[in-house]
Amino acid sequence: MSSSMFRKKSRARVRHHRAQWRGRVSVPALTPCPNTACGEPKPPHTACPHCGQYKGRQVYRP
Ligand SMILES: [Zn+2]
Repeated sequence: MSSSMFRKKSRARVRHHRAQWRGRVSVPALTPCPNTACGEPKPPHTACPHCGQYKGRQVYRP
């Protein structure tokens, strides 16, 4: 195991790579809230930040 096997990535390189990764993975898509009284766009599979409901249940007070 010689040290030449490992090439240290510069900080800028790592940060650039992670920035690219984050940009690709993050999902900006929003789905409308199923609560008919609300209908605000929200991230899928999460409680609605507007009315606090998830799958018809009140998860928290908005
Ligand atoms: Zn809602």
